[in-house]
Amino acid sequence: MTTCASRRQLLKMTAAGVAAMAAQPSRMLAQAAPQFLKPETPEQAMRLLREGNERYLKQTLTACSIDLAILRADTEEHQEPFAAVLCCADSRVPAEIVFDQSIGHLFVVRVAGNIATPDTIGSLEYAAAVLGVKTILVLGHSNCGAVKAAKAGGAVPGQISTLFQYIYPATIGAADLPMAVEKNAQLQAATLRGASPVIAEMVKDGKLSVGAAVYDLGTGKVTMSAS
Ligand SMILES: [Zn+2]
Repeated sequence: MTTCASRRQLLKMTAAGVAAMAAQPSRMLAQAAPQFLKPETPEQAMRLLREGNERYLKQTLTACSIDLAILRADTEEHQEPFAAVLCCADSRVPAEIVFDQSIGHLFVVRVAGNIATPDTIGSLEYAAAVLGVKTILVLGHSNCGAVKAAKAGGAVPGQISTLFQYIYPATIGAADLPMAVEKNAQLQAATLRGASPVIAEMVKDGKLSVGAAVYDLGTGKVTMSAS
């Protein structure tokens, strides 16, 4: 099924490319973008994320070299993202840029503290079981305000403290904030693997991986955790 979907995707992209080329030959030649082929395995999906982060670090981004109008047309009726990212709502952690990916490539779920809650688990189950992502990556980041606040445990306004129950276990025994951030990403990944039978079954069958990583706000590097 996956192979058929990839073939369909490729054929559709090719057809769209031919049509656009006929309409605007000079523009298409100038934008001869690499074809994107959806990875078939969790390992290939993780490799694409790592390679994307390397391009981001070198400032050699390619995602926006693809004609965005064509990409929008190709994905208007359906989506086949290859990876899902559960990342913090922090304005300094834009997942598509950090991994140099474009429209339709990443299914991104963002919430302060990148936490696995019933809402985010449900969204990620949809990404895995319906859309067929090959990997789910929980992406924490350095100097995370949500983790910092949960670790401090002081009074906060409104409903902010409702986030803390999910982060607090990661702060126990964490000597400093970087350690708490890493533990939090790992804890949320473990929760995803353990709390969702849908995700657990796909992991067991080798169709999906669930990992954790930390993004460094200063260097831009994503460091994958050993799971
Ligand atoms: Zn954060």
